[in-house]
Amino acid sequence: MGLEMSRYSMDRRVLGIRGLLNFGLSCCVNAVLQSFSATTELLELLKRWQPSGRLEEKLNVPLQLKKALCAMREQLEPAPHRRFLDCLHHYQICWYTAHDADEVFHSILNLIEKQMSDQDLATEIKNLFKIKVEGHILCSECTYTHHVPTYFLSLPLHVREDTNTLEDCIRSFFECQKLEDGELFYCERCGEKTQSSQMFKLVSLPSILCIHLKRFRNSEGYTRKLYCEVSFPKIINIAEVLHKEHPEMPENRYSLYAVIVHSGKAMFGHYTAYVCSLDGKWYYTNDSCVREASWEEVQQTYRGHLGSYTAYMLLYRRASSDIVQTSSE
Ligand SMILES: [Zn+2]
Repeated sequence: MGLEMSRYSMDRRVLGIRGLLNFGLSCCVNAVLQSFSATTELLELLKRWQPSGRLEEKLNVPLQLKKALCAMREQLEPAPHRRFLDCLHHYQICWYTAHDADEVFHSILNLIEKQMSDQDLATEIKNLFKIKVEGHILCSECTYTHHVPTYFLSLPLHVREDTNTLEDCIRSFFECQKLEDGELFYCERCGEKTQSSQMFKLVSLPSILCIHLKRFRNSEGYTRKLYCEVSFPKIINIAEVLHKEHPEMPENRYSLYAVIVHSGKAMFGHYTAYVCSLDGKWYYTNDSCVREASWEEVQQTYRGHLGSYTAYMLLYRRASSDIVQTSSE
């Protein structure tokens, strides 16, 4: 795999970042948990919650997530997430099953919203990740433009089978696209599904900007993985990226703090994660193993070849206002 085992630290904790045992193929949940653990805002919100209600503890995803995230910080036992995994098993995120990290990420956030007894807090948690957009759907029959407000918890970006930059992928997402035959829009004016084109207008950006690089492509009944290059920066200013589409947008700087990585083929893969700790250092977490990593190593996940590591999800945090000031030349 190109990574020497000797470079691993088998310490369960390195500067607050700790490994998680792989239980019944839990690498996908482990990688998502590592990125949730690095999302300190999430645990802060969960800590404010006083669980109440009828749901049994063992079935309560937000409660078990809170416990797992606390235990990852405070306890030395090798599997602080065991009960969380048990809990997810009740909701189709089962033991000994390969999962998709973006689907797991969505399932956990949706279960938090559904199960938290404090709905205000549940909304706050969802808002942490909510990218609000307005779909503009133009019916080619009656030429009416339908405005459909919606949101994404992770921005699903199309990857071209070429060399991509994250900035290009984001720009294409907000460009006008013709809807494929399989996803035709029902036009209420025409009273039928019609040929249409769609465009998203950005309404607001969240504190945590999660990006999903769509590296798995279905074609002719099977799924293959795209290993092509998608480079991404440490700091991204969305206002700069979308200047043409949204010229009035104020500075919107985000700083990368977690990268969920997929290795292997589409159907038989392994998930790991790079996380940036509060001291600005990068760490590589591969189930139980945690070691320091460099930014150059994180950049190796831009592209891959068969079986090698590629970035699959990127988590950016809105830069604080003082960072915006110091870094604006
Ligand atoms: Zn129409």
